[in-house]
Amino acid sequence: MISVALLKDVRGVGPKSLTLLNKIGINTIDDLVTHYPFRYELLERCNLLTTKDGDKIVIDGRIESVPLLMRFKAGLNKMNFRLVTPSGVVGISIFNRAFLKSQLNIGTTITVIGKYDKTKNVITANEIKMGGLSDKTRIEPVYHSTSGLTSKTLSSYINMALLEFGNDIEDYIPEEYRVKYNFLNKKTSLNVIHNPSTMDKLKEVTIRLKYEELFNFMFKINYLKYLKKKEEHGLERVIDRSKVDEIISKIPFQLTNDQLKVIDEILKDLGSKGRMNRLLQGDVGSGKTIVSFVALIINYYSGYQGALMAPTEILATQHYNNLVKFLKDYKDIKVALLTGSTPKKDKTKIYKELEEGKINIIIGTHALIQDDVSYNNLGLVVTDEQHRFGVHQRANLQNKGIRPDVLYMSATPIPRTYALTIYGDMDVSTIKEKPNNRQKIETILKRNDEIKDVLNMMLEELKQHHQIYVIAPLIEDANENSDLTSVIQLKEDMSLAFGEYYKIDIIHGKMANGAKDIIMDKFKNNEVQILISTTVVEVGVDVPNATCMVIFDADRFGLSTLHQLRGRVGRGADKSKCILISDSDTERLSIMERCDDGFEISEEDFKLRGHGDLFGTKQSGDMIFRIANIRSDYKILLQAKKDSEEFLENRKADKVLKEKLINSIEKG
Ligand code: ADP
Ligand code: MG
Repeated sequence: MISVALLKDVRGVGPKSLTLLNKIGINTIDDLVTHYPFRYELLERCNLLTTKDGDKIVIDGRIESVPLLMRFKAGLNKMNFRLVTPSGVVGISIFNRAFLKSQLNIGTTITVIGKYDKTKNVITANEIKMGGLSDKTRIEPVYHSTSGLTSKTLSSYINMALLEFGNDIEDYIPEEYRVKYNFLNKKTSLNVIHNPSTMDKLKEVTIRLKYEELFNFMFKINYLKYLKKKEEHGLERVIDRSKVDEIISKIPFQLTNDQLKVIDEILKDLGSKGRMNRLLQGDVGSGKTIVSFVALIINYYSGYQGALMAPTEILATQHYNNLVKFLKDYKDIKVALLTGSTPKKDKTKIYKELEEGKINIIIGTHALIQDDVSYNNLGLVVTDEQHRFGVHQRANLQNKGIRPDVLYMSATPIPRTYALTIYGDMDVSTIKEKPNNRQKIETILKRNDEIKDVLNMMLEELKQHHQIYVIAPLIEDANENSDLTSVIQLKEDMSLAFGEYYKIDIIHGKMANGAKDIIMDKFKNNEVQILISTTVVEVGVDVPNATCMVIFDADRFGLSTLHQLRGRVGRGADKSKCILISDSDTERLSIMERCDDGFEISEEDFKLRGHGDLFGTKQSGDMIFRIANIRSDYKILLQAKKDSEEFLENRKADKVLKEKLINSIEKG
């Protein structure tokens, strides 16, 4: 990590580009230099003789004549010059690059990409790159970027940052492993990955950078495992089986076998001397919440306080309301809700009552693990949507109070082998089975010009007194040129179509939390029929009467995100629909039509996007790898696991680096 220099210190990065960089998640120099190309363009030299008339051509050569510059109206311009290439002399003409003229001198070597007019022997170039093609092929990095910031500019910032600060970049691979595997140093590796000269070199440094990332990650996991082994568990409890049966009998539906099995596994953990550190994974809609409720209630009856932590306020509030409803016959159990937006006065009261043990079960966001919260006798902590929290929060939680039992829940289904490795510090329970009242969600792809069909389908649902979610990637239109759909704009459109008979409202992340709650409540109570939203409803929200999900600009989202969004419908017994609207990327999106298994979808995402969003969207904790891919790099992961274990245990190993790695767990 480069601690001293800031992104704005990189030469060339002004306030405007800083905003654009921030927009794509680049906030530090570290982020910048590890913003890896998502693909490379291979430029292979063509031959003038064999290239057909009108075909695309890539060719390099030496400039033979001074470019002749012509200027036209409206600021347009054109340059003509001759280029000596390995397969003959050719005329080059290029529009609107007058600014390049000073660089295009006689004798300069350049590469031209364009269209070849064979009869005139002229290439109309779209692009001129300085320098020639080495080894016939030239490898150009292509970056994910945003409008106003070209891949090329991004590349120049990255290279400038490497030039100016490259020596300060921390290398997290301990010396002994660097030597063992003959790895290049960090700076060189970064230089190569951003400017590869050959495919072999690129491959070599890719492995090295992946290894580093996985080493770093596995070190953290191993460290947590080590902490867990070391500690004593102070909780003694007796599990009252008849109480368990009583609670289960109050559940208004029949639990699935998998739910019962998992409840059993949890009760065993709670009843044993060891400390529970269990991950419960199950696809969206598999019914994890009720399992956690049973665990929390049993925890209460064995004499301890319990906490349930959710990644968003909407979800926390929903859990709170559900639990209160479920516990209406249990007057003795006091439940409270604590989130970032709980008024100060109430917060103080809740803190006090938590400390005095008057509150038995607390539900909230990560406000629950803030330093100023102390518990009377916390016995169980549940985190929902665990993949949204990072390893550091895992560490933080474990250190709270009297070392409670911990249950993590995650809708990101990953196969057992992977889970055992990347959640190496936990036991894993899986719910595979979905409640059997579920029908498959019908997923339909639509183009923008088929919006009428979409509106008709929506109307059908509304007529059946069902409710609808509509998702857009933006809150409001970013600028006039953006063709992305926004929540605000959809509100207008939908009001025109349905406003007369149905109530429409919006919800998004920038709204005050109180306002969000009110709208969610209205939607829950069917006072609002169409809820237009950003992905804030992605996690956890449960409104069984909502049977239709319409996602605009679906190509903007990863498949796993779409799967999560789709999981908001199909939660009751009614047949549900998910409509994906997009004009592009249909092949990828069609996977959603045929597949409804969260694991399979994340696998597909992986294959298609290289990294995929197995762990949800960008803000989802630290399971996002910048370059590694736990599936295809599993061998490297296993090696990194072994090495990091060895490194952790080795007393003679680099203490400073070890310290740094450990600190980064707490910081996150
Ligand atoms: P997730 O695993 O995605 O968190 P939830 O716990 O929110 O899923 O459950 C989804 C919905 O299914 C909720 O409305 C819940 O009440 C209901 N549900 C859970 N288990 C069952 C079951 N065994 N039978 C019927 N409905 C169930
Ligand atoms: Mg859930």
